[in-house]
Parts: sequence; C-alpha cells; structure tokens
Amino acid sequence: MNVQLLCTACGHRLTEPLRRLPELPERPARDPRNSNPDGSRHAPPTVPRGTYAVDPQPSGAPYVPEPDWDTWMGTQGAFAYNGEQLVPAGPRDTLVVHPEDTLGRLSPRRDMQDPGCCGRHGREGPDQLCGSCGTPVATELSECYGPYETHFLPDAVRVESA
Ligand SMILES: [Zn+2]
Repeated sequence: MNVQLLCTACGHRLTEPLRRLPELPERPARDPRNSNPDGSRHAPPTVPRGTYAVDPQPSGAPYVPEPDWDTWMGTQGAFAYNGEQLVPAGPRDTLVVHPEDTLGRLSPRRDMQDPGCCGRHGREGPDQLCGSCGTPVATELSECYGPYETHFLPDAVRVESA
C-alpha cells in the first residue's frame, strides 16, 4: 500500500507516494572521491525512490559525548568535535526517505551554517521545513562522507494512504 507523509501541523504533503520497507536497509558502500552525474558527491541512497523505512536508532541532534572508542566508531552519524567524540541522541523511529522524494515540498533552513564540504551533514538539527507552514519536519543528510537520507521527525509527520 502506498502512503504519503503529511505535515502534522498543517496537513501539507511532504513526500511522493511511498511504500514502507520492513526495515532500514544496510547503508551502501560509498567512495567520497566519486562524483554523481549531476555533480553532487553524496553516497548512493539508503532507501530507493518510492520507499521509506523506520530507523530504530537515535538520529541527529542533540549530540552527546561517547567516551568509549568502540561504541563511538560503531555509531552511525558519530563525529569528533573540539576533542570530544560525539554520537547522535536525537529521536528514534525517524522516517527515512530518499531525499529526492521530497523535492519541491520542503524548504531548507537558510539560517543554518551547515559547513559541510559538498552537502548537508545535518549536525545542527532539523534543517528542512514544511514547504507550506515552515515547521521543522526533517533533516537531510547529503554530505559526501555520510549516507544519503532524509530523516523525518516522527512527531512532525503523519502517515496517510496515498
Ligand atoms: Zn506544515
């Protein structure tokens, strides 16, 4: 069954029709030296166009220190900053979609610095706003050294039949 994600605040449609995958697929291997045909350098998408999956792991901001090296190394989205090892402690159960299934429906926050080298790393928190009412609804990950995913906040969207 196809569904679509709607903004909880205003009902605006935020995605193309989507089919739920049973689980989040393994993130595909990537080579940051490669460029895509359109000049972007993001990884292959984690979920195919027209699908979504729920990520059971904490996702995105806030980030908290993780002193254990092995845990830090094994955590998706971990990074080092100012001598600290940080891991995501944002919401579980974000809805992961192909970023291109949101085209024209979200507006990126312009006030975020987002110093990624060629895409968005999402470390400053939800950077995608509902294209109608401006509520923060999602975080886009499109940096060359991370996955290629848009994570919708579970409380900011509702799933409805398409
Ligand atoms: Zn809205």
